[in-house]
Amino acid sequence: MKAAVFHGIKEVRLEDIEIPQIKSDEVLVRIRAALTCGTDRKMYLRGHPLFTPPFVFGHEFAGEVVKVGSKVKDFQEGVRVVAANSAPCNHCYYCKIGQQSMCENITLRLSGAFAEYVEVLGPITSQNLLEIPSGLSYKEAALVEPLACVVHGVENSNIALGDTVVINGLGPIGLMYVQLARLKGARVIATDIKRQRLSLAKKLGADEVIDISKAEDAVGAVRKLTERGRGVDVAIEATGIPEVWEKTILMVRKGGIANLFGGCPSGTRITIDTKLLHYSQITIKGIFHHTPQYVKRALNLISQGRIDADSLITDEFPLSNFPRVLDMLVNQEGIKIAVIP
Ligand SMILES: [Zn+2]
Ligand SMILES: [Zn+2]
Repeated sequence: MKAAVFHGIKEVRLEDIEIPQIKSDEVLVRIRAALTCGTDRKMYLRGHPLFTPPFVFGHEFAGEVVKVGSKVKDFQEGVRVVAANSAPCNHCYYCKIGQQSMCENITLRLSGAFAEYVEVLGPITSQNLLEIPSGLSYKEAALVEPLACVVHGVENSNIALGDTVVINGLGPIGLMYVQLARLKGARVIATDIKRQRLSLAKKLGADEVIDISKAEDAVGAVRKLTERGRGVDVAIEATGIPEVWEKTILMVRKGGIANLFGGCPSGTRITIDTKLLHYSQITIKGIFHHTPQYVKRALNLISQGRIDADSLITDEFPLSNFPRVLDMLVNQEGIKIAVIP
């Protein structure tokens, strides 16, 4: 089969490789659509500490089951499916207390998507492989995994009806936050430095957008849009830049919540004014990854038409044109790019 194989930093090549074999608890999926993701970009530019090359690049995909392991009971050949990129162990401390995103034995797979076929690992097949409802395209369904992370983030941000929420950073994740914050009944302020992303945020329901590249004081610009400048109820960070983490905290009103969602390069630090944290009773939290319940909820939201998938998937290329996809990914052109084998 044709596959885009990751060999090392900035080394991804289209190659002919063997179709994966499956074990008794796995299924083989013929990929119909795969999507690019910020994690792919990071991996391309910096590598990944957990995974040793070579491996097939990409992790967001949807397709059709073409082979079923002997122990798999829930899926048959021909079923349209989408898989998340992980599954919890269900017996470690964190799984037992219902916080599976921090599972200590998580089965995590960040590979396999930019190819013609992929084997879905056993724990993922049994917990995070979902049938795609009819009427939903493969491309739309492939949004499940990143959206599941955002559903997790929104469900832990305490957004109440009538709140004002700021979202800093309008890549695919930030733009999903815009849509879900609106669904939660909030007034949404969205910030970024790219005009295309700001106008997309507006189209997806942001009430106000701020071009941070033009604003000298990003915090002041956001606060100015809140009543008496007191700050937003909930501030969400979706860039993974430490400086933006710090600014996000400063946008929150007394008693509000800052959800620092974008993962920063390891080893980076931020500074917080202790007086502000203490007297303003601000909650600062990190939210990471997803759990099976958020994966299912994400698919529900997509199939209910609550997420504008077409606006998020801005480009589409055949797998044979993967070098072009890499260029766009590195230069952050478009939002999400669909790759069709
Ligand atoms: Zn992803
Ligand atoms: Zn666990």
